[in-house]
Amino acid sequence: MTVETLGFQTEVKQLLHLMIHSLYSNREIFLRELISNAADACDKLRFESIHNDALMSDGGDFKIHIGYDKEAKTITVRDNGIGMNREEAITHLGTIAKSGTREFFSNLTGDQQKDASLIGQFGVGFYSSFIVADKVTVRTRRAGEEVNQGVEWISEGGGDFTIDMIERAERGTEIILHLRDGQEDLLSGWKLKSIIRKYSDHIVQPIVMNKEEWKDDKNVVTDEDETVNQASALWAKPKNDISEEDYKAFYKHVGHDYDDPLAWTHARVEGKTEYTQLLYLPGRAPFDLWDRNAKHGIKLYVRRVFIMDDAEQLMPTYLRFVRGIVDSADLPLNVSREILQESSDVEAIRKGCTGKVLGLLADMAENDKEKYTKFWGEFGRVLKEGAGEDFANKDKIAALLRFASTQTDTKDETVSLADYISRMKPEQEKIYYVTAETFNAAKNSPHLEVFRKKGIEVLLLSDRVDEWVASHLTEFEGKPLLSVAKGGLDLGKLEDETEKKAQESVAGEFKELTEKIAKSLAERVKEVRVTHRLTDSPACLVSDEHDMSGNLSRILKASGQKAPEMKPILEINPGHPVVMRMKHEERKFDEWAAVLFDQALLAEGGQLDDPATFVKRINDLMLTMSLGG
Ligand code: ADP
Ligand code: MG
Repeated sequence: MTVETLGFQTEVKQLLHLMIHSLYSNREIFLRELISNAADACDKLRFESIHNDALMSDGGDFKIHIGYDKEAKTITVRDNGIGMNREEAITHLGTIAKSGTREFFSNLTGDQQKDASLIGQFGVGFYSSFIVADKVTVRTRRAGEEVNQGVEWISEGGGDFTIDMIERAERGTEIILHLRDGQEDLLSGWKLKSIIRKYSDHIVQPIVMNKEEWKDDKNVVTDEDETVNQASALWAKPKNDISEEDYKAFYKHVGHDYDDPLAWTHARVEGKTEYTQLLYLPGRAPFDLWDRNAKHGIKLYVRRVFIMDDAEQLMPTYLRFVRGIVDSADLPLNVSREILQESSDVEAIRKGCTGKVLGLLADMAENDKEKYTKFWGEFGRVLKEGAGEDFANKDKIAALLRFASTQTDTKDETVSLADYISRMKPEQEKIYYVTAETFNAAKNSPHLEVFRKKGIEVLLLSDRVDEWVASHLTEFEGKPLLSVAKGGLDLGKLEDETEKKAQESVAGEFKELTEKIAKSLAERVKEVRVTHRLTDSPACLVSDEHDMSGNLSRILKASGQKAPEMKPILEINPGHPVVMRMKHEERKFDEWAAVLFDQALLAEGGQLDDPATFVKRINDLMLTMSLGG
């Protein structure tokens, strides 16, 4: 076959431009990325060979070799991993397959350090070669293919690349970087070794270079190999032998992150099921955090042999932000995803990992509040899913939750349920909360009026997931949680007998009015009653004790799901001048009633079915008022 020239996918062209023009101050990452790909290629071959041992017929000792040539101005990265066939080279090195391309570009900040961190995360590492090279040659042959099925891929980083079939004796891949002018300082054994030790020390395969010696005042590159990295499984070492820096560097590799992790936990678990876990909390949320199907990021090893990425069975979905590894002593080497689903060992590991992460978080919440606040800001909304999902750990998760509250009235200052309980009034029995679609709607909800008056704290819940949390979290440390917008307001001992008596007599006085409004709004409300929860607003809507809240039904509808049609209860404030006036209003009574209802709906963040009519009614009423003086 003759040489063929093919164009890069548009996104790749943009990416190359970016690499070349904006990431040069982080140029060293090219080596980390190429080594990481070489290591992945070895892992892949090992995994495939479980079902086809012929693939490894030419040797099972994996190795990544780094070489350089001062004369030719090249650096070469060579592995004996899986290799690529022609089709694979075209797609893997000519397109960006992952769905995150657009996010990658939209996440770019212009800050070189930050942008460089995105490269690993988004799976575009190979292209970082072009930061230092103006021409890249890839020679590769897939394991198991004939010798004449080798492939040569060449690109100068412009709009296209060439591809050709070659003979290649060894399986695996060799990447030759022809350095740009000005990058010559990379052509040194010392320099390359220091980069390898900095970024790739934790790679499990040996990374080897030719040994160099001083001879007759000259640096001579010998034929002897020397291993540059530690080439051992970090997690298998005793904790005392692992430095903070080692842990961080390893995280960057497994977490595909350029930044330090927030925290980690490393433990060997012995007993019926034996395994080692090294789990990290990232410092920042990844772009696909909201995708519940996104990869989970726990790598599974069996007795230090890599088995698979993203072993989602090892971690519950609500902890999908955790990165790291689990190394099992019990699972078979040829374990498949199907086996994982049924294995009781995996069940035990998952339980253990969940417990460890929740423990790490509890410890952080207790001892490093600042860090915990950072964690909560990034991942709190995901952790909340756990309150409804993980029954066994419900109490532990509940203790980790943080909410905005009327105590501070800011969105970012949050309180825990324990804080709340510590501030409860002596007579208070319940934990009160309000849900709304936005923080401001929650904070300014008319339902809070009586609570503010009495100085009772209310939690302000405005994340979508909060409705779900609230429906599952019915109590904390023996105190029931109660929505302030559901059911009749029973403040229990927070109200004294005189207050209760007064409310009853007011309800009697307004009986005629509430019945009249109920008749007028029969289509829209379930009931109309007098309330004492309002001090400033004339009316509000509440849902019946066992009905779905208005907020939840709006969320469901907005996300295209079915929500049962539920009529709310209209509560009116007997102390409000508008309500008092309605007692004597005969003309336009239906208009008044409709406006009362509509404004209550608006105040809780609802949408009017017919805004135009609302506006017209308001204008009519304003006119009547001014005419009447
Ligand atoms: P990622 O490693 O995140 O997938 P890269 O841009 O680093 O993204 O690599 C793209 C793809 O190219 C890899 O997924 C792999 O399929 C292929 N590839 C790169 N380097 C090698 C290699 N040394 N051996 C085999 N395949 C490779
Ligand atoms: Mg890569």
